[in-house]
Amino acid sequence: MGRLLAAGVEPTALDYLYYSHMHSDHTGELIPLLQAMALAQRTADLHLTAPTGFDAFLDGLLALQPWAKPQGYRLVRHPAESAPCGGPGWPVTAARTGHMPTSVAYRVAAEGKSVVYSGDATVTPELAALGRDADLLILECSFPDDFPDEERKRGHLTPSAAGGIARKAAARHLVLTHFYPVCRMDEIEAQTRRAFDGPLTLAYDGLVIAV
Ligand SMILES: [Zn+2]
Ligand SMILES: [Zn+2]
Repeated sequence: MGRLLAAGVEPTALDYLYYSHMHSDHTGELIPLLQAMALAQRTADLHLTAPTGFDAFLDGLLALQPWAKPQGYRLVRHPAESAPCGGPGWPVTAARTGHMPTSVAYRVAAEGKSVVYSGDATVTPELAALGRDADLLILECSFPDDFPDEERKRGHLTPSAAGGIARKAAARHLVLTHFYPVCRMDEIEAQTRRAFDGPLTLAYDGLVIAV
């Protein structure tokens, strides 16, 4: 929420939320956000789209923190798997990423442009298909190619894996994000270039890209 405020976006003014999977680095502020919605005396519907398994996860969080339960407004839950799951004029579609059994990536299309966000991911044909010709393909990149712990690396993308997806998808602009502390930016860029020679940006907090 601090990032949204810094970007000039009032968090309680959001109408649509999309979650890729349940891990806490991706959901940590869901309960504070819902509590803020109630405190802001929201009345408009809030739409939350998430993959299979998320309902039980959210219900568990709300059982422990009942003060964040929607009151005065409706929280409308949508399964990510039922496509399209967007709003008027901006269809959103989802695809499996293999990071968790049900984790998904999202593609949003609007005004002839498309943005794809992987969440946490592995190399899947579904993700490359979802990223097809994307104007902006945002992929996670947790570890450098040569990170020695194969077990930890397995559930995530590395620079050359992400670059390979971008090349396969013929993405127009690849943005890498979700760098673990072990990542060194100069190495990440060089390793991505082994697989992808199109426009490449290594994301940082507060980065704004016009599509
Ligand atoms: Zn994760
Ligand atoms: Zn993550």
